[in-house]
Amino acid sequence: MTNLKFKINNKTQIPTRFKARVNSKISFGTKFLVFKLELDHKIEYMAGQYVSILVDEKTRRAYSISSAPDGKRIELLVDTNPNGPASNLFKNINIGQSIDIIGPYGRFVVPEDVKGTLWFVATGSGLAPLKSQILDLLNKGYKDRIVLVYGTKFEEDVVFKDLFENLMSKYPNFQYYIAISHFDALLTQNYKYVTYISKRLISNSLPNYAFLCGHPKMMEDMKKFLIFHKVNLTNIFSESYV
Ligand SMILES: Cc1cc2nc3c(=O)[nH]c(=O)nc-3n(C[C@H](O)[C@H](O)[C@H](O)COP(=O)(O)OP(=O)(O)OC[C@H]3O[C@@H](n4cnc5c(N)ncnc54)[C@H](O)[C@@H]3O)c2cc1C
Repeated sequence: MTNLKFKINNKTQIPTRFKARVNSKISFGTKFLVFKLELDHKIEYMAGQYVSILVDEKTRRAYSISSAPDGKRIELLVDTNPNGPASNLFKNINIGQSIDIIGPYGRFVVPEDVKGTLWFVATGSGLAPLKSQILDLLNKGYKDRIVLVYGTKFEEDVVFKDLFENLMSKYPNFQYYIAISHFDALLTQNYKYVTYISKRLISNSLPNYAFLCGHPKMMEDMKKFLIFHKVNLTNIFSESYV
């Protein structure tokens, strides 16, 4: 089964139906599951795109691919809090079982001619497409500054922390900041919103482009903040999950 083709970054894409076998399933923090899936054939996707999960023939839900483009393998970062049909499918599926997916979809990709300082700002599972985009840029040898600011409510939900810390040691042009917004974080002086960190960063890291994904209020506040700091609106890219 195929859907309408569409064009992005000058490439034509045709969403295709795949069987995706669960190769690994890892529970993380208070709500996340991280899946590594192997597809029955190769998928051509761009970093930042998403797939549609078929819970059944009438029920589909969108999930961003969190891995960099890699042939037949994809990774998904699933927030199980919505607790609807897709969350339950992911909670109940086991290693070795398969799910049906259709994709790729979406236009939340890094433009091919991007240059200068790039900011990536995410909260919650909004980190998924940004992780894919950052890995893809670093794999391709992007040399200008890349800044990731990640916010969650609880410290234990800082998913992929080791990976991003390792990337910081490996790539001098990559910087990673964490914001924890639960009040308990006040005790450890860690209580912050991504916007607070962004305000601290802006004086020495004015972004040329920004990529935002996560809580709608965060994206609204970040857009206002970036526009106030004269970042061109056409250089601000965002994906809404609602
Ligand atoms: C382009 C795109 C990419 C996405 N990528 C991801 C991803 O990588 N990882 C991920 O975890 N989610 C992602 N989402 C969000 C995911 O598709 C929804 O959360 C989905 O509705 C969950 O399906 P469900 O069947 O479990 O719950 P649903 O039956 O759809 O919803 C159950 C209840 O939860 C509420 N709800 C739905 N979505 C959310 C939400 N995001 N946060 C809080 N409450 C919600 C609904 O209002 C409803 O009351 C993406 C959404 C879009 C549009």
